[in-house]
Amino acid sequence: MQKMISAIFVVSLAICGQSLAVENLDTKNLATENQVNNVSNQSTLVTHFSEQLSLTGALTQGALLRGQAKSGDVITLNGRVIKVAKNGEFVIGFGRDAKLRHHLVVISTDKKTVKFTISLLKRDYKIQRVNGISKKITHPNAKNVARSRLDAKQVRAARAIFTEQLHFKQQFIWPAKGIISGVYGSQRYYNGKPGRPHYGVDMAGPRGTDVVAPADGIVRLFVPDMFYSGGTLIIDHGMGVSSTFLHLSSGLVKAGDVVKKGQLIAKTGTTGRSTGPHLDWRMNWLNQRIDPALLLPVRTK
Ligand SMILES: [Zn+2]
Repeated sequence: MQKMISAIFVVSLAICGQSLAVENLDTKNLATENQVNNVSNQSTLVTHFSEQLSLTGALTQGALLRGQAKSGDVITLNGRVIKVAKNGEFVIGFGRDAKLRHHLVVISTDKKTVKFTISLLKRDYKIQRVNGISKKITHPNAKNVARSRLDAKQVRAARAIFTEQLHFKQQFIWPAKGIISGVYGSQRYYNGKPGRPHYGVDMAGPRGTDVVAPADGIVRLFVPDMFYSGGTLIIDHGMGVSSTFLHLSSGLVKAGDVVKKGQLIAKTGTTGRSTGPHLDWRMNWLNQRIDPALLLPVRTK
C-alpha cells in the first residue's frame, strides 16, 4: 500500500470574532486494499487509478470523489446502484460522520466484477460557540416552526432534481471574498446550547459582497426569506451535486436559470439565523453533506 500525505490548513476565525484557530485536516491517503494506486497529488486532490476506474478527491469524511469508469459499467456503492453517465463518469460523496470503509463494485459490460474498498480518514471537528442569536430564532413560535418545515421541504425538493450534467467535474472556485469564519463539520453551541453541526464554509465580509457561482450549473431555488437560512439559493451542478448559499440579502437569478462559473448570482447578507453578514456555502451529493473546502484551491484571501 502506498501512502501519501497532504494537509490542508484552514484558518478559521470564530463567528463571534474572538478566537483564531487553525484546523488541520490531515488528509492522509489511506486508499486501498485493492488495486487502487496513487498516481498524482495536486493540492488536496488525489487520483487513484486502476484499470477499471479512476477516483479523484480527498479520502476523508466530507469528501466528494469524482470517478471515471468505462461506458456501460454498472457501479454500486455499499450495495446501492449509483448513476453513471453514458461516458462512464460518476460521482460519490461521504458525509460528516460517514463510516470509514466503503465498498465500491464495478460490473463491466462483459459481466466482470471488480471490488474496491475505499478507506476514509476520520476527521476531527472543532467546537464553535455562536452567541447573540435572538429569542425569535432560538425559541421559534408555532408559525415559525411550520415555516421552517416548509422551507426544509422546498430545499429537499430542489436538491432531489437529478440531471446528468457533469458540471461538478470543474475546478470549483471560491464564491465570495471574506474571512473564513466557519468551517465544515464544527459542533455548534448556540447561545451555550448544543445545536446541529455546521455543514457549510462561512465567508464573512461586508453585507452586499458579491456571490459568484463556484462552478456551472442550473439554479433550482431562490427564496428570499427562509426562517433559519434567510435568502437561500441552490445551484445544481449535476449528478446529485449541489451548492446551497444561505443568509443572502438578494438573489440575482431565479429557478431554471443556467449559470456559469464566476457569474454574479447573489449578494451576501445576514438574513435568517446569522450573527453578522457572511456567506454560508454548503454542498451536497444527494442527501450527503460534503465539505466544499475539499474541492477548492487553498484560499489566499
Ligand atoms: Zn454558517
